[in-house]
Amino acid sequence: MDADPLNQASPDPAPFTHHLLALHEASPQLLAVFDEHDVLRFANPAFCQAFDVRPDGQTRWLDMMKRNLASGRGSKVNATDPEAWLAGAASRRGKQPFRAFEADLTDGRWIWMTETMDAQGWMLCSASDITALKIEGRTLRQERDRALRAAQTDAMTGISNRAHVLQQMQEQLSRVQIGAGQMAVVLLDLDHFKRINDSLGHAAGDAVICDFARQLQACSRRVDACGRMGGEEFALLLVDVSAEQAQAVVERLLERTRQAAPLEPDQADMRYTASAGLTLARPGDCIAELCRRADVALYEAKAAGRDRWQWAG
Ligand code: GH3
Ligand code: MG
Ligand code: MG
Repeated sequence: MDADPLNQASPDPAPFTHHLLALHEASPQLLAVFDEHDVLRFANPAFCQAFDVRPDGQTRWLDMMKRNLASGRGSKVNATDPEAWLAGAASRRGKQPFRAFEADLTDGRWIWMTETMDAQGWMLCSASDITALKIEGRTLRQERDRALRAAQTDAMTGISNRAHVLQQMQEQLSRVQIGAGQMAVVLLDLDHFKRINDSLGHAAGDAVICDFARQLQACSRRVDACGRMGGEEFALLLVDVSAEQAQAVVERLLERTRQAAPLEPDQADMRYTASAGLTLARPGDCIAELCRRADVALYEAKAAGRDRWQWAG
């Protein structure tokens, strides 16, 4: 006869049952057995601790859950109506031979709960602590978000980079193309920037670039977009504005720039200016055409003496 205790056909299950129970007692898994009336018939220490319960042969699952709700133990209930939540949980319980789901515990742990039914309606509950996995997932999500932000951000100034500006321009242009909105595109370039670099050094030049990014941000609303296109060139996308409104924003920006003191007083009391080219998006436009028009206008503003704006066309 096969004496293997793991063989279920073993004629003497006593040693095996003894080991099985001892192992269940020692396991950090949350283990419990409910009978066909949903009375808790077995629970190991890990389960008892998590759900603040004892298998006294009387406590039903619903009693346990209601007590947990009242005392703030056991499962965390993320619902405005805990009674309705409990009714929903009860209605899903024991309907399938097997099911598994994630749950939050009030002590901060996340568990992966499984429920296995037998033909007589008894249920084995077994839950694993997956807190570490969830945290790992959250860390990954946070890192992904950080990478995404970095991919859209100009490292030096902290405002949007070229790719992000173009992406937002495309999104806004799509609205314009279906007649659902308007957009003014403004390209800006700092005046005589080489001189700043040459006379005050590259670090001072960087400080001026950062200062202009701040002025640009201060002049844009939350619905607008602005960013650094590269070097000392920037873009401003003004959403749903008239030509007059766009012009007023750019005038204010150029004035703020004239007044700005980008360097520390002990470095130099220097001033700087910028030039701007403006254009309004039209339904037939593509990004390249929009940028081309704004760029031509910017060139004209430069040619006309700098520190000014110019409309395209
Ligand atoms: P204009 O008024 O015609 O625009 O004259 P400009 O001197 O500004 O001419 P241009 O736009 O061609 O020169 C841009 C200069 O900006 C050239 C480059 O050395 C400098 N530059 C580009 N990127 C950076 C940067 O990140 N930091 C600093 N400090 N300088 C930069
Ligand atoms: Mg330039
Ligand atoms: Mg320049």
